[in-house]
Amino acid sequence: MNNLYTKGAILLLSGPSGCGKSSLLKEVYKIINNYHFSISTTTREPRIGEKHGVDYYFVTKDEFEKDIKNGDFLEWAEVHGNYYGTSLKPINQALKESKLVIFDIDVQGFEQVITKLRDITTTVFITTPTIKELENRLYTRNTDSKEVIEKRISNAKAEIEYIDQYDYFIVNDDLKIASEQLVSIARSSLVKASLYNKEEIIKNWNK
Ligand code: ADP
Ligand code: 5GP
Repeated sequence: MNNLYTKGAILLLSGPSGCGKSSLLKEVYKIINNYHFSISTTTREPRIGEKHGVDYYFVTKDEFEKDIKNGDFLEWAEVHGNYYGTSLKPINQALKESKLVIFDIDVQGFEQVITKLRDITTTVFITTPTIKELENRLYTRNTDSKEVIEKRISNAKAEIEYIDQYDYFIVNDDLKIASEQLVSIARSSLVKASLYNKEEIIKNWNK
């Protein structure tokens, strides 16, 4: 089958800020390989410890708007008052190399990616058991001001309305259990029937 595998695949994660997407991905990376994490571009200020080119590409509003005009983004959105976007070029390259391309993007980005790349995309919505626990995690993470946290909590209430549009839903209560679930989904996303070229499969199968 491998020679008929014509393209890479996308694993798209969304969920309220602070639900544990980055923590889960760290666990997943210990187990899976041949993946490419899509580093987004943002106009948000870097948090302490965040590095340009590792966590995000941190740019100015002018630079971001120039990239929009140039058509450089697969998708982009304004989230919590800042721009965030996924650059097209590195994604195309990783897909060409048959990698599992991992996105951590919001529900607006999800809608854009699904419209353009549904066949190769598997989507997962992740959240905490309760909104109270989300608040606890945002305060415990201690990376954002009270005002920023309140905005994120308020946006989370709108984001959760999207859960039934996703393929999978993970409640990140126990990190170990949730990361095992995410590993299973990552593996399944690579054997989705719609990734394959039906005509090629049948031609070879009939040989
Ligand atoms: P996100 O990437 O979704 O914004 P993070 O991975 O930064 O979220 O996690 C937010 C905070 O919650 C961090 O302090 C992290 O250590 C903590 N956290 C993540 N998963 C769990 C979990 N299952 N139980 C308790 N705390 C968690
Ligand atoms: P944070 O500021 O906590 O890193 O991210 C805030 C939100 O922006 C999260 O919901 C995250 O998934 C989303 N996000 C990060 N990168 C992108 C992106 O490239 N596009 C879109 N649409 N959302 C993004």
